[in-house]
Amino acid sequence: MTTVVQRVRVGRPVFSVEFMPPRDEADEQRLWNAIRELEGLDPAFVSVTYGAGGSSRDRTIRTTGRVARETTLVPMAHLTAVDHSIAELRNVIGWYAALGIRNILALRGDPPGDPNGDWSAHPEGLHYADELVRLVRELGDFCVGVAAFPYGHPRSADLDSDTTNLVRKLDAGADFAIAQLFFEPEDFLRLRDRVAARGCDADLLPGIMPITTRKTLAKTIELSGAPLPSRIADLLEPHTDAKSFRAAGIDLATEVSERLLAEGVTGLHFYTFNRSKATKEVVNRLGLVPART
Ligand SMILES: Cc1cc2nc3c(=O)[nH]c(=O)nc-3n(C[C@H](O)[C@H](O)[C@H](O)COP(=O)(O)OP(=O)(O)OC[C@H]3O[C@@H](n4cnc5c(N)ncnc54)[C@H](O)[C@@H]3O)c2cc1C
Repeated sequence: MTTVVQRVRVGRPVFSVEFMPPRDEADEQRLWNAIRELEGLDPAFVSVTYGAGGSSRDRTIRTTGRVARETTLVPMAHLTAVDHSIAELRNVIGWYAALGIRNILALRGDPPGDPNGDWSAHPEGLHYADELVRLVRELGDFCVGVAAFPYGHPRSADLDSDTTNLVRKLDAGADFAIAQLFFEPEDFLRLRDRVAARGCDADLLPGIMPITTRKTLAKTIELSGAPLPSRIADLLEPHTDAKSFRAAGIDLATEVSERLLAEGVTGLHFYTFNRSKATKEVVNRLGLVPART
């Protein structure tokens, strides 16, 4: 099966999409509608996040396996070290391999319940994502990705130590990194410069989520870990009705993406929240969709 790196390094810009494991049957239907809608646009790969507890983890494995089996898409499974012993992690990685999954996003994860709470490793588990990168690498011929944070991870003391730890994960054997949400193209480009200044040339993919509602705006602020810049607040503020707010959010995501592509970014990673419409609109406007013959 093809790797993420093979799909991203094709000499033209590409996009990829991220889904979450479905919570119930209705959610599963929505997810598969979105997967089928986006499949026709030939994303470079699709990733499925890894949740905090047992059943959601089974659903990640099941969903990623189904993508591998029943679609033409290249799947990537997320994996976190939260509440897992090394033996359990080996087991999950073995499941992924058995399902034909070659791509894994290796993450430490957050403490269940309160993401900002105290992190404590499983007594027989791992402490940081770089250890998981090494474990995945050790167990098979996987293409491995890691998380990156344009404003620094909330637990990092400063951007310098954050960069050191990101480069440590890449040096441990990760092939690429996907960035957390951010607001301005320069915020991502500065992260790319910090990594390049350490002599590291791994692919860095920006995370994009079109701000189509006030809810997605709040989610972006929460996930990015940064306050809303006044330029964007001013831009969205006049759009009091839902339709015009959505249109402004799509324009903004398109503008940010265009700037990133102009700066040589090889791939844009869209956080979809299991919906396809906004991603479709933006990638169509960017011309990232192959022309139909
Ligand atoms: C693209 C993307 C996808 C994600 N998908 C998921 C998902 O599917 N499921 C989920 O639960 N969460 C997910 N997350 C969230 C992620 O798990 C959390 O942000 C988590 O807090 C950090 O994970 P990490 O892998 O970056 O951890 P790490 O790289 O281990 O970093 C955690 C903190 O420790 C520091 N650090 C790292 N290594 C060392 C070291 N060796 N010594 C000292 N300090 C160190 C870092 O600077 C950072 O402050 C995702 C995040 C991103 C950006």
